[in-house]
Amino acid sequence: MRRLARKPLVLLVTYLFIVWVCLIAFGVYLSEARRLIGANYTAMVTDVVRAQEDPERLRLILDSLLDSPDTIHLQQLNDLLWRIPLRMQGIKRQLERSEIPPVQYQPLIDELDSIDRQLPALEEAIANVSSDRVMPLPERQALLNLGLDIEEGLAWAYSELNELLHRASAEQRRLMQRLTLALAALLLMLVVAIGLALLMLYRLNRQRELMRRQSRTDELTGLHNRRRLLEDADYHFQRRDRHASPISMLLLDLDHFKQINDAFGHPVGDQVLIAFANLLLECSRQTDSVARMGGEEFAILLPFSNVLAAQRLAQRILAATREMPLPGPAQGRRLTVSIGVAEAEDGDDFDRLYHRADQRLYRAKAQGRDRAIG
Ligand code: GH3
Ligand code: MG
Ligand code: MG
Repeated sequence: MRRLARKPLVLLVTYLFIVWVCLIAFGVYLSEARRLIGANYTAMVTDVVRAQEDPERLRLILDSLLDSPDTIHLQQLNDLLWRIPLRMQGIKRQLERSEIPPVQYQPLIDELDSIDRQLPALEEAIANVSSDRVMPLPERQALLNLGLDIEEGLAWAYSELNELLHRASAEQRRLMQRLTLALAALLLMLVVAIGLALLMLYRLNRQRELMRRQSRTDELTGLHNRRRLLEDADYHFQRRDRHASPISMLLLDLDHFKQINDAFGHPVGDQVLIAFANLLLECSRQTDSVARMGGEEFAILLPFSNVLAAQRLAQRILAATREMPLPGPAQGRRLTVSIGVAEAEDGDDFDRLYHRADQRLYRAKAQGRDRAIG
């Protein structure tokens, strides 16, 4: 019993431990995930796609400029050379603030830095371009080479960056999916764990209730046993003290029961005891407590009943017992019972009431059995 009583506590502690481990695991995972999930790659991708237009424009403007070095093309190139470093700075800042590990983007930053260093040379070369002067071929070639160098470097860096961002955002999506799955699994585990715990508690309670009932029931007849009768008596005597209501009692002992056992065997004797127990239940009220005290001795506690009511019940039982058909081979045999009847007097406790009923039962036996004395 003590082991059983400790079980719900063990269950609860185990359950809390599981919940605690789940929460810790979930917290660690979440803080790790937050790092990646919090990143907004969409804005960066938009900036990079816009920046990817710069090398294309650079090539176009350079081509046009070298064909016809007019002021419009010069102006366009100057604008672009002013914009390119600004864009590179912006993208570098975003990369440094992003959750992407530096080792992945450092080569791109190095490339952008090297382009940054080349830009002044290009600006200088362009300063020499003028619509009134025909550029000598080597100078034109050097300008073109420098421009193409910068254009290629930019195109490479931005396309790599684009790919890097796509990979990071794909990883973010995968993580979201894994997180959703983990959450669903955790929830399922919790539901199952709670369900199992409740089921075990329910079974445990049912088992305990069954044991409690068995410990207060007579195994053979299903009547209350002595322990239950004492509990009922306790309860009714406490009520009686408060409400001054009468309590009576019948003590019953089958007459010459040993002869039935001797004549027909113990199993038939058992059947007779069961039949007599049913007879007692039929004759008494719901509020009466009908118990088998042991062997072929029974007791009925009658709350709210005085001795007259108890005597009436005793007479009913006497008559019904004489009429009761006995089971199987004992069919032709008649059964009788002797009964002691008593009502609790002022100041009586259950022991005194029992003792008085027992004395009267003894007298009923002595006076020839099959009778009630009260
Ligand atoms: P009396 O009229 O004086 O009460 O006689 P009796 O034979 O009924 O009383 P006694 O005390 O001599 O014998 C009681 C018998 O009840 C003896 C025992 O074998 C029988 N008995 C006690 N418990 C059980 C039981 O559970 N099943 C059966 N079949 N018999 C039982
Ligand atoms: Mg007896
Ligand atoms: Mg007897």
